[in-house]
Amino acid sequence: MAEYKGIMTFCEIIEDELPSISKEVLGCGRKLADDLGQELCTVLVGSGVESLAQEAISLGADKAYVVDDPLLKEYQTDSYVQVMKKVVTQVMPQILILGQTSVGRDLVPMLAFRLDTTATLDCVELAIDPDTRLLQRIKPVFGGNAVATFTCDSYPQIATVRDKVMSPPEPDASKQGEIITIDAGLDPSTIRARLLKRVKEDEEGVRLEDASIIVSGGRGIGSAEGFNQLQELAAMLQGAVGASRPPCDNRWIAPNRQVGITGRIVSPDLYVAIGLSGSIQHLSGCGQAKNIIAINKDPEASIFNYADFGVVGDWKKVLPAFKDKLKELMSE
Ligand SMILES: Cc1cc2nc3c(=O)[nH]c(=O)nc-3n(C[C@H](O)[C@H](O)[C@H](O)COP(=O)(O)OP(=O)(O)OC[C@H]3O[C@@H](n4cnc5c(N)ncnc54)[C@H](O)[C@@H]3O)c2cc1C
Repeated sequence: MAEYKGIMTFCEIIEDELPSISKEVLGCGRKLADDLGQELCTVLVGSGVESLAQEAISLGADKAYVVDDPLLKEYQTDSYVQVMKKVVTQVMPQILILGQTSVGRDLVPMLAFRLDTTATLDCVELAIDPDTRLLQRIKPVFGGNAVATFTCDSYPQIATVRDKVMSPPEPDASKQGEIITIDAGLDPSTIRARLLKRVKEDEEGVRLEDASIIVSGGRGIGSAEGFNQLQELAAMLQGAVGASRPPCDNRWIAPNRQVGITGRIVSPDLYVAIGLSGSIQHLSGCGQAKNIIAINKDPEASIFNYADFGVVGDWKKVLPAFKDKLKELMSE
């Protein structure tokens, strides 16, 4: 293992920019690098991406490896796995961290297999074991019922981290770093898939993952009209509307509003859960919220075990009073 050294992050690039998850991963990598007393490097893969290398350095990287090739313009598993394998084999980082995004989820298992190592996906925290100096990979298990810590002594130690569980670091424009170009050396015939068309998801208002306030409804809301009332509250709070699975299945609200293990994973400052029971599958998607307010007519509803504040009552009566009070407070 002696030859593996340093921390590496993969900087995902979306529409020629570093999305928040890439910055969060850089912040996490910086902390691990400092704890180990080692360097942090990052990898930027794409076409015309070199200009982002300095930004990655300002966010904590000591070195930025840039692999720039027109064949890498769009994410394709074959090309990105080949390139990442090449970079990792050349640099030999002790730890490699990526975001738990659709790219991370797709890339990591195949990359780990090709590098003959293990990977832990969907971590909510990463740390260094003080005794073994191994990477501790902390993640929810059993549908969010428990949190487990894994370590593994195969190298590089690979993990993905969930969106929004860490804060992006403040950029430091004065930070100096090295930018190193690596030739992709891709043979186009080895890229078996081609991107034919990109269809942008229709999403009204604030994206759930970006919302700092989410007003979420469950089966207890009962109809699409009911969700209009939730929409009003969300608009007052400049937040977004979410839902449990039954309202999406019933088309009271668009399926892309589903929060949970098979929906979106969110971590807003405030999650208002109305008429939803708090199933484990739902809480897996919103359990990281900083504050949860629950409104439910059943005092035994499991959501109250997770809520910071709870109101027992019929939402149709509670919500108008809640909105009136809010208007009053906002006009002060
Ligand atoms: C593989 C799998 C994946 C799944 N993935 C997800 C997922 O990603 N997200 C998800 O949400 N679910 C998911 N589910 C479904 C999950 O198991 C639950 O069935 C679902 O979360 C329940 O939704 P709910 O809380 O809205 O409904 P219910 O459990 O039926 O709860 C409705 C609540 O509304 C309250 N209520 C009713 N009327 C009122 C009223 N007038 N005022 C106030 N309160 C009222 C009731 O007291 C009750 O607590 C998944 C299930 C499986 C098997």
